[in-house]
Order: sequence, then C-alpha cells, then structure tokens
Amino acid sequence: MAAVELELLDRIRNGAADPHAPSANTAVDVPVAVSYGDGIGPEIMEATLAILDAAGARIAPRQIEIGEKVYRSGYSAGIAPDAWSTLRDTRVLLKAPVTTPSGGGYKSLNVTLRKTLGLYANVRPCVGYAPFVATRHPEMNVVIVRENEEDLYAGIEHRQTDEVFQCLKLITRPGCERIVRYAFEYARSNGRRRVTCMVKDNIMKMTDGLFYEVFREIGASYPDIEQDRQIIDIGAARLATRPEQFDVIVTPNLYGDILSDVAAELAGSVGLAGSANIGERVAMFEAIHGSAPDIAGRGIANPSGLLLSAVMMLVHLRQANTATLVHNAWLRTLEEGIHTADVRGGRTRRTVGTRAFADAVIERLGDAPRKLALVEYRNPDAQAAAAESRHPRRPPATKATVGVDVFIHDGSTTPEILGSRLSSRETPALKLRMITNRGVKVWPNGFPETFCTDHWRCRFQARSDGGTIDHRDIIELLTRITDAGLDVIKTENLCTFDGVAGYALGQGQ
Ligand code: NAD
Repeated sequence: MAAVELELLDRIRNGAADPHAPSANTAVDVPVAVSYGDGIGPEIMEATLAILDAAGARIAPRQIEIGEKVYRSGYSAGIAPDAWSTLRDTRVLLKAPVTTPSGGGYKSLNVTLRKTLGLYANVRPCVGYAPFVATRHPEMNVVIVRENEEDLYAGIEHRQTDEVFQCLKLITRPGCERIVRYAFEYARSNGRRRVTCMVKDNIMKMTDGLFYEVFREIGASYPDIEQDRQIIDIGAARLATRPEQFDVIVTPNLYGDILSDVAAELAGSVGLAGSANIGERVAMFEAIHGSAPDIAGRGIANPSGLLLSAVMMLVHLRQANTATLVHNAWLRTLEEGIHTADVRGGRTRRTVGTRAFADAVIERLGDAPRKLALVEYRNPDAQAAAAESRHPRRPPATKATVGVDVFIHDGSTTPEILGSRLSSRETPALKLRMITNRGVKVWPNGFPETFCTDHWRCRFQARSDGGTIDHRDIIELLTRITDAGLDVIKTENLCTFDGVAGYALGQGQ
C-alpha cells in the first residue's frame, strides 16, 4: 500500500483525518430513524447496524415500523402517524426494503415518502468491483443524480376520449434548479470531474429544454467541473456500452429511473448498490434492491447495498471518517474473497452468510483495500449545502393571453368538416388558425396520409397580430362550440411570458 494511504488510514483510526469531524469526546449521538422492513430487511439491517456500531458511528437509532404489517393494519401507504413524527424529529431515515402487498388499494411507500418529505434528489453510485464481482465494465464508476419529484410521476393522468389517454409531464424551474445545483455540489464535494445532463430537448423543447437551460445557467458557476449534454437515447446507449466514460449524470425523473437501473445492472450484483434520497429537511438512505422474499429468513442475504447506503448517511451526518473506515473495510473484505452467495466473479474464497459477512467487515475496520481504489470521504461543506438549498424565486414575468387550444373528442369527423364547423363558430376576438391530430397539423392543408384519432387540438388565436384576449373571450368561444354540438374535452391557454411564446408550434405549423 502506498505510504500516503497508510498515513490516511492511520489518521482515520485516530479520528483526525478531517478537521471538521466531530471529535470522539465531544460528539453526541445523532438520532436516526431506522426501519427494519420486510423479507431480508431485518437481517441486513442488523448486520449493517452491527458494523456501524463497531466502527464508532455516532448515531442513536430510533426504530419505526413501516411496510407490509402497517399496510395490512389499514394504512394504505404502509406508514402510520407515529412513524411520520419520528421522521420529522430525526430528519434522517435508514430504511431496509419493504414488501408492497399484492392486490389493489395500496400506495407505494417509497413514492409517498419521497413526495411527502420533499426528497427531490435520488443519488445512486454504480461502481464496478472487478475482478471480485463479475462485470464487463471494470472501470465503471458513475453516479446517477435523478430528479425525484416531477416529470411524468406527478400521477396526473386522464382518459380524454375513446381512444386517447394522457399523462401530464410537469417540469418546474425551481425543481430543475434544485437538482442541477445538487448535482454540481455533489460533484465538487466528491472530487468528481464531470457532470453530464441527459435530456430529450430536441423533441420536448419546453420541458426538457428548461432542464438543460437551467443546467447551463447553473453550470456557469462551476467552471472547475466539465459539463456536457447528451440526448437521452444515445446517452443511455453509451452508458450501457461504455459506462466508464461517465462520471456524474443529472437527469429528469423518468430517464433517471431507467438509467439508474441500467447502470446498477451493469455494475454487477443487485445486492451491492446503495442510494440516497435527499430533501431540504429530510434524507432517506436505502439499498436499491427489494425485500427478496425468495431468500428471506435464511441468513444468506448480502447486506452490502444497505451498508453502502449507511455510508452515504454517515457522510450526510458529517461523520466522514467513520464512513471512510467502513467503506474501506468493506472493500478489503470483498477483495479477500469473503462473499455472500449472490456475488459472482470467480474470486470467492469463502461463501458466508449475512452475519458472518458483517463480522468479516468488522474484523477489517482500519484496513485498506489492496487492489480496489481506497475511498476517502470529506464532510460536506456547510456553506455549499446552504447554497444548494437557495433558490430565490424569479419575479413573475409579464404574461399575456394570445389564444387558446381547444381539445375536441370526435370519432366520426374529418379535418375538413371539423375545420368548417369550427370556423363558423369563431368569435370577434378569436380566429381558428390550425387543427392538429396527435400534434400533426391536419387543417388547413393537411396530408390525406396522416392517421387521425378521435382527439383534435384546435388552435384559436387573437384575430389581430400581437393582439391579446381574456378569459371571457374563451368562455364565449366555448359556448359557441358547445352550441354547435361539439364535445370539448379541455382547453390550454396560449400565453406569452415577457413577450416569448409559452407554447410549442404544431408539427407542420
Ligand atoms: P428484489 O430486489 O427483492 O429481488 C430480486 C432478486 O435479487 C431476487 O432473486 C433476490 O433474491 C435477489 N436479491 C435482492 N437483494 C438481495 C440481497 N441483498 N442479497 C442477495 N440477493 C438479493 O426484487 P423483487 O423480487 O422484484 O421484489 C420483492 C419485493 O420487494 C416486492 O414486494 C417489491 O415491491 C419490493 N421492493 C421494495 C423496494 C424498496 O423497498 N425500496 C425496492 C424494490 C422492490
């Protein structure tokens, strides 16, 4: 081992590697909510807490009950009021996986926790541990920072016609600012050199376009970090084939959901990856895997995913020295071939159960890995954390309504017939400019080849160029259209913000 690494470990053992670390004599134990979960949850949580305890983590676990039992006792989200109050007190949760009972009527506990507690950032490091864990990507070391609250996950879905269903994709400026700033701060405080933004802004110019615009704006304050943007489709393909080329990836919710599973799969075993869900007030740490009912109660589950989540928690709690101690001991255990049964790489010397694996890590506390890279955590910078949570609201723009899109359900019309019926119902303020079907212009001058479903978007704009309208004009138009016997499903106002159109043009417009 290099002299510098030996010195680092010496300093860690003596509790002096980080000047900001709480000293062993003065630090108090930090209350942390802990849930043992279902399936393999209790086994891996006991193993993890035993390692943290042996490493001297300054935490005071307060157990909360969430998961299957709570679901079955009548709480549809799997969490009871007393658990919420513990969470609000401790503001940190170390969570073992839970089982969602099958059958209808149960809400996802994870989604409920994320949304209720405002856990806006999902952070998932995906690392290759070759040759000790089989992977085709030995150099892989990527962190996916996924926006956790917005996008298509708002759950706002409607059936609008016989043939058309809709899910609303909501992207907000404060949401983008928060996640992008978090990703840059994470990169900086973890010694990462590049942040890649993955979006589909060539198609979704307004929503994904906003995400990338914010990335560029905020990125300007981080000249020390390399920055690039990749379109999600080609970016995902590159991640799947050359993951070693990526460092930190920041991306909206849905893409992040998919990417983080792809990356975890590439890294090797599902049992090895941890994750953090970070909010402004509360943070939750958990393994990425589920409750593994197929091996529950057998004492063979791998506690590593939860342990690495706990390491992230220690860093969050500014106990970087303890995090460093535990992570390096874990790497050393892996290298010595002491593995649980799920780890495949051909370097296993001894297959052990959950508890024996934890004991092996405990025995190696203070040891450094010999082949894998030594890990060294730093306590997060308090000022950086404050910067991360600062999002001054912009002053409202000058908004003008210049038209309205009226959506109509009609399964038996044609673009020409609909165009002529609607033209005859124009008002003094609003004129029909265009009809689209699934976003493609079909009136005026559409193509006969374009397939039309029963869902028409009819764009009315102010009669005079640059003119504005108000809500009464829209109501008058809707009254006329309804009187013509047409079925209006919904409307979307067309507005400009500081003179810039806040709506996309139709394809072909
Ligand atoms: P799973 O992750 O529980 O299991 C998938 C496979 O990986 C199984 O063969 C399992 O034995 C294995 N595996 C998982 N973790 C392991 C570990 N630590 N050590 C060794 N092997 C491990 O996924 P699943 O079977 O689809 O889901 C089971 C339950 O978990 C479901 O009820 C699901 O809703 C729930 N779940 C919970 C969470 C969570 O709480 N965060 C996440 C995913 C799934």
